[in-house]
Amino acid sequence: MKLATYGGAFGTDLGAVLGDRLVPLTRLDPALPRDMTALIARWDALKSRVADLVATARETLPLAALSLRQPILRPGKILALGKNYAAHARETGAEVPDRQIWFCKQPTAANGPYDPVDIPRVSDQVDYEAELVVVIGRRGRHIAPEAALGHVFGYCCGNDVSVRDWQKMTPQWMLGKSFDTHAPFGPWITTADEVPDPQALAIACRVNGETRQSSTTSNMIFPVADQIALLSQAMTLEPGDIVFTGTPEGVAMGMTPPKWLKAGDRVEVEIAGLGALDNTMRPEP
Ligand code: MN
Repeated sequence: MKLATYGGAFGTDLGAVLGDRLVPLTRLDPALPRDMTALIARWDALKSRVADLVATARETLPLAALSLRQPILRPGKILALGKNYAAHARETGAEVPDRQIWFCKQPTAANGPYDPVDIPRVSDQVDYEAELVVVIGRRGRHIAPEAALGHVFGYCCGNDVSVRDWQKMTPQWMLGKSFDTHAPFGPWITTADEVPDPQALAIACRVNGETRQSSTTSNMIFPVADQIALLSQAMTLEPGDIVFTGTPEGVAMGMTPPKWLKAGDRVEVEIAGLGALDNTMRPEP
């Protein structure tokens, strides 16, 4: 199933994407939670009801007429793994890491799949990072790698937008990774049952139609299962937490001179089977 959050000034609803149409789940059944995190937390109890609504689909809406938001409006945690593709680590001049390098993006950075992304007032060194995003489904602590994928609710596309001068100003990357609007993800969550192998997905980033990144998640140094296992040794992973799993080579920072993003640039992140983000850069209002 492909689950989306859509809506605008009068609140948001949840829907299931079927091709170019959407089944308006929470309008068809007002008893369903209208918040994705709540739906994920109660998924075991609700999934057959949702599947019935999709199968009978007595009313659908054209996707193109709807305003899709990030599928989880305000994730509890936005965890992100640095340098998780060897060729990307090398292009930044870094060693290929022998341990996982974690940082956070703040929940206020969350942004929609088609919304504008800010060029901040304080920097012009803005970069893109196409990433597979994992959505946690089942709460857990000390999760074994063999059990880790069982805690995944689904997957989507993400862009770990990065302000490079701010990222490198201090040993902690957090500030440069947490600017408002700099965590677009979506366009919807594809549930894990439709993604038989998260380590075999083609991933790409285009800027104004030019392919800048083209790789596969099979090139990750630390696969998704190892990421969940390590994170859960430190913290409880909860329904609706999201994990940015690292970016392949081809970022602006690795170019001479770097092709930083500028206002008006169109940035697309596409992952096979998961859809695509399509965000345009604008000056910070
Ligand atoms: Mn990243």
